[in-house]
Amino acid sequence: MPNSHANEESAAAKKYIYSFAGGAAEGDASMKNLLGGKGANLAEMANIGLPVPPGFTLSTEVCAYYYDHQKTYPANLFETEIPAALKKVEDYLGKKFGDPENPLLVSVRSGARASMPGMMDTILNLGLNDKTVEGLARKSGNPRFAWDCYRRFVSMYGDVVLDLKPADKKQIDPFEEILEQKKQELGIHLDTELGVDDLKDLVGKYKKAILEKTGKTFPENPEEQLRGAISAVFNSWNNERAIVYRKLNHIPGWWGTACNVQAMVFGNMGEDCGTGVAFTRDAATGDNIFYGEFLMNAQGEDVVAGTRTPLKIEQLAQEKPAIYNQLEEIRSILEKHYRDMMDIEFTIENDKLFMLQCRVGKRTGLAAIKIAVDMYNEGLIDEKEVLRRIEPEQLNQLLRPVFDLKEKKAAIDSGRLLATGLNAGPGAATGRVYFNADDAMEANARGEKVILVRIETSPEDIKGMNAAEGILTERGGMTSHAALVARQMGKVCVAGCGTLRIDYKAGEMRVAGKDIVIKEGEYISIDGTTGEVIAGEVKTKNSEILEVLIDKTLDPADAPTFRIYNQLMQWADKYRKLNIRTNADQPDQAEIAITFGAEGIGLCRTEHMFFGGDRIDAMREMILADDIAGRKVALDKLLPYQRDDFYGLFKAMGSRPVTVRLLDPPLHEFLPHTDAEIDDLAGKIGKTSAEIKARIESLHEFNPMLGLRGCRLGILHPEIIVMQVRAIIEAACRIKQEGQEIVPEIMVPLVSTVKELEITSEVIHKTARSVISEQGVGVKYLVGTMIEVPRAAITSDQIAQAADFFSYGTNDLTQMGLGMSRDDSGQFLPIYQQQEIFARNPFESIDIDGVGRLVSISAKEGRSVKPDLKLGICGEHGGDPATVEFCHKTGLNYVSCSPFRVPIARLAAARAALL
Ligand code: ADP
Ligand code: MG
Ligand code: MG
Repeated sequence: MPNSHANEESAAAKKYIYSFAGGAAEGDASMKNLLGGKGANLAEMANIGLPVPPGFTLSTEVCAYYYDHQKTYPANLFETEIPAALKKVEDYLGKKFGDPENPLLVSVRSGARASMPGMMDTILNLGLNDKTVEGLARKSGNPRFAWDCYRRFVSMYGDVVLDLKPADKKQIDPFEEILEQKKQELGIHLDTELGVDDLKDLVGKYKKAILEKTGKTFPENPEEQLRGAISAVFNSWNNERAIVYRKLNHIPGWWGTACNVQAMVFGNMGEDCGTGVAFTRDAATGDNIFYGEFLMNAQGEDVVAGTRTPLKIEQLAQEKPAIYNQLEEIRSILEKHYRDMMDIEFTIENDKLFMLQCRVGKRTGLAAIKIAVDMYNEGLIDEKEVLRRIEPEQLNQLLRPVFDLKEKKAAIDSGRLLATGLNAGPGAATGRVYFNADDAMEANARGEKVILVRIETSPEDIKGMNAAEGILTERGGMTSHAALVARQMGKVCVAGCGTLRIDYKAGEMRVAGKDIVIKEGEYISIDGTTGEVIAGEVKTKNSEILEVLIDKTLDPADAPTFRIYNQLMQWADKYRKLNIRTNADQPDQAEIAITFGAEGIGLCRTEHMFFGGDRIDAMREMILADDIAGRKVALDKLLPYQRDDFYGLFKAMGSRPVTVRLLDPPLHEFLPHTDAEIDDLAGKIGKTSAEIKARIESLHEFNPMLGLRGCRLGILHPEIIVMQVRAIIEAACRIKQEGQEIVPEIMVPLVSTVKELEITSEVIHKTARSVISEQGVGVKYLVGTMIEVPRAAITSDQIAQAADFFSYGTNDLTQMGLGMSRDDSGQFLPIYQQQEIFARNPFESIDIDGVGRLVSISAKEGRSVKPDLKLGICGEHGGDPATVEFCHKTGLNYVSCSPFRVPIARLAAARAALL
């Protein structure tokens, strides 16, 4: 609710009204907080000499006063101030408000600081009554026009001021109903076909409906009309639509709206009149073309109402070349003045052009980037401004595969939309449904395109995810396993699609409340940018940037969007201070990340390497071994796999740094679940199924997240570390022998005390030294730790003594810092966010006050001991622009994120440096 803290004394002297009658306005574009966006820009347009119908703005402070004083107004507002402001308009136009001979009509328009399109109310043609309508008819020589205005006004007044507009869209507006009936009686379709007598009849019927439904007569007195309309505008600030919109867009309730009273110009006087809306450039593609629509003989919302099909702005060039040229000129004036793409509203009255609104135009990510770079080339803005204007997330739209939009629309129009989930991994994917990883891989091997559909995913699904074009889950949020891994892999993902009913046994899925069954092998399409799930195939294609960078099927010379992207990235790299690394554990992921500009690997999760082929058997054998000797046998089988993996990864990374995290997850994650799997494994490793079951039982933990995992594994079973370090250093030696320089960074997870790190480091150093002397190759390496336990964060001065680097594992640090399990937070986080307990999901964007503070304390403590201590972040947060900004401010050296987020992080880092 608006809340003004001004006291009564100063309120009396306050200026509440700002005129824009005539050439010079009292306000300007910088006064959006006071005048709202619409009022400020009307003033600005008047100031730069554009044809704006005169008027005045009641400031947002009037709105604040209104809500602070039981919906009353400051003293004298209606008695003297509004009449004085009206008089300026009357004098300017030579008309008088309420004059039966030559009446001034006005519009009363809402307009808050931020644009809230269509959320609040506007009333047109105000000032008409049974007398003034006759005056308008005589003066204009056009009774049809006068009565058309009158019937529009009465219905708008009834809807907006007298509250007759049904809140529920399914119910019919009473005036619409009367109008429809009339048209049916007359056998006509268009409003423009109504004659004077029809319009008169409608006005009478409208007034009657008002009396019947509200018990009030329609006010004939223009002053009363004006007061009613102004109150309705202020009331509309708190209508349900506006409140919902504000919530979604983080607009605070205390801002309030301004209210603009403006002389009417008429687009509905005949065929040399009209009204239109336009963008100074194409808001979808960013192309530098004038993009707009108009209707002749029309008023206000007719253009967007959809009853008559509007015409393309090019058509105006043919029909009204002079007006079109003037609009083109205004387009150029506005762009030079605002140095941005503008969204405008205009009206033509008897071949004369008037500007009714302008604001910075909303646009797609693609358009935002294209327009900014074009405006740089046109000399309108500098490169820093380009970077400031582009929201890092907008880059996503340039990178993802895309649906052919026409095809998608056709699919949805024909009723194929099944459900909508979370847009967890942007992009478009289409393929056949498979409900488990093995089937997905087999299908993929047969050459099918696959969508992996799971209730939720776990590490064993990775291969299946890898084989799939996209992943769809019934449960899990934006940072669920599925979402996280999908983004790292650059896969399309729709997560947490709660209306799906997946039945693994039957091999099918249903949709709650719908009579549809999708069976294994049938096609679906998922849009990870919007969360839509569509039955059947919808055509997709790779984005242009990927066609250049990854497919190498397109020459940059033929790829204008790629060139813009590239230019943007060069500017970003020029200004950013943070290095950008990637989270990757496969050479192909690493290669993609490099083409996106990754400067190293910040997190290689070694456990992902244990799933392929018969590795998982060796891994299981290791876990199930009865003693060290047994474990060593199994580890010896794993060693060559690991070594080859690291070799491939190092090779792909060239001389860029690679941080390898030692084994982290609890061991039971690797074990078989089903009886069949257990029997199969028993045969392979020479144990009985009962023995295996007993071992699985003994590994059971109540809280695996806080159990035997991370560095604890290595402290219990140092031989695991020995194997991993040997694999890392042997791979590095081989790379070095091939003439490439690599300094592996060996990272110990889940450390909470310096002692843990010291014990583990000793094993690492001992192993590394012996491999180096065996091989006779002088490989350098670093040993560091993840900081992901709060105790480690606040004892970082001690831990730094034993570490060459820290990497903030903000996923666990958030879980443990907040005492909140990420995977279980789906139950309550949505409600938490609704109640604004957290502004954003703390697993997506770092909780700056809490978890962020742990990071800053740790950074400071760590560097107090080792000033050059290398600091980075490797949680999922690393690709979140707000987190990147935080990392920049905290003085970290790098952020690490999934490959497809590298460009986003580069841009975010540059923007942070430019703040
Ligand atoms: P919104 O904020 O929902 O866009 P507006 O206040 O811009 O609402 O009003 C909607 C439309 O009404 C405008 O686009 C314009 O066509 C018409 N309109 C508003 N004021 C006037 C006026 N003074 N003269 C003619 N048409 C007007
Ligand atoms: Mg508007
Ligand atoms: Mg962790």
